[in-house]
Amino acid sequence: MRSEYDLLVIGGGPGGAIAAKTAAEKGLNVCLIEKRPAIGAPVRCAEGIGRELLEEFIEPDERWISSEIDGAKIIAPNGTALVLEPQMAGNEVGYILDRKVFDRELVWQAAEAGSDVMVKTRAISPLMKNGKVGGAHLEFCGIQRDVRAEVVIAADGVESKFARWCGIDTTIPYRELATCAQYLLTNIDIEPRTTIFYLGNRIAPEGYVWVFPKGERSANVGIGISPADCGPGQRPRDLLDAFVKSNLPTGRPIECVVGGVPVCEPLKSTVSDGLMIVGDAARVSDPLTGGGIYNAMFTGKLAAEVASECISRGDCSQKALEKYDSGWRDSRMGKALARNYRIKEFFIKLSDEKLNLLVESAAKINLKEFSTLTLIKELIVRNPSLLLELKSLRDSIR
Ligand SMILES: Cc1cc2nc3c(=O)[nH]c(=O)nc-3n(C[C@H](O)[C@H](O)[C@H](O)COP(=O)(O)OP(=O)(O)OC[C@H]3O[C@@H](n4cnc5c(N)ncnc54)[C@H](O)[C@@H]3O)c2cc1C
Repeated sequence: MRSEYDLLVIGGGPGGAIAAKTAAEKGLNVCLIEKRPAIGAPVRCAEGIGRELLEEFIEPDERWISSEIDGAKIIAPNGTALVLEPQMAGNEVGYILDRKVFDRELVWQAAEAGSDVMVKTRAISPLMKNGKVGGAHLEFCGIQRDVRAEVVIAADGVESKFARWCGIDTTIPYRELATCAQYLLTNIDIEPRTTIFYLGNRIAPEGYVWVFPKGERSANVGIGISPADCGPGQRPRDLLDAFVKSNLPTGRPIECVVGGVPVCEPLKSTVSDGLMIVGDAARVSDPLTGGGIYNAMFTGKLAAEVASECISRGDCSQKALEKYDSGWRDSRMGKALARNYRIKEFFIKLSDEKLNLLVESAAKINLKEFSTLTLIKELIVRNPSLLLELKSLRDSIR
């Protein structure tokens, strides 16, 4: 490891790995650091990603794909199923990854492109130069050292501290840090090519339960709920155990993970002088689904491209780096985040009776032309009792 780089990337998840790879391919001197001793482990993810979204970044490889998914089901509190066939399920279908291998592959590719990679290396504070971020103090096995860089990319995930140390407000509103628990459950009867989402205020208040197949008889079975709904006997683990007991009683957990997912709006700004923030650290995971792998890779790549331009022009000021911030906000991903935040806010307020009504009527609609807007228009026609709520949702996501 040198003491000076063009770009320092903090965090070896998908956002950091793609950022390091992109920047190294553009000829920058890059260093990626990861505080954990091994890339990709432990996995805190249900590992689902849409087919087209993944393929935008990397050719699928059986070494890190656990399952291919063709369809999805949404189950209402009363058990009614909305079945999304392959042609209409969009990005609800695709792959269930093996992130222990996938994340390593991405970092491997960054290294092959020329990036230095340091594991067990933690950023402990920013290095400031004339009020600008100019690198970081790092700690590696108890030894501290400074690394200077023209630009630092904070890709340090949901627990991100780096941007906050640089003076950026990264607070996630309490209600909007979904708290999750997940088992890798084996010995269960599942549909191995279908993901299932269970809704309901009793099952998963302000959230959902997911069943994401990992092979023929195993699945990531997890739950995400709002902390505002947690309490004694109502923690994610309690609700997950209750779900497994009644729905998958033969299941045996061979892994258990807990973690948080930001389901808030993104940071007000994802750049400052010498600093760019990507992925979960920028709070760009999808507030409706909690999915953030693609969004981390998308923002990681864009940040590296803009960093490369700015470094070659010799201007890494906040103003110059803003091209990244406006770039992702104006992208399809950025617009989907804004829309899905409003949809999430609508859904979490619905009673189980209303959820039943919506899923029952959606299940009857011929969803050949599936899009969120056409679905909501159809639902308005079919649910006069929900007219006002649905109309205001439709108007807010136009
Ligand atoms: C239970 C659960 C289920 C999920 N399921 C899905 C899903 O099915 N599909 C989906 O798309 N998304 C899912 N997500 C979200 C997804 O895991 C994240 O959005 C994604 O990993 C974000 O990538 P990232 O690169 O921004 O951050 P991360 O993958 O979190 O990587 C950040 C890295 O930074 C490192 N780091 C942190 N601080 C420092 C420091 N100071 N110095 C050095 N390194 C540091 C961390 O150790 C970590 O490795 C799920 C999340 C949870 C919790």
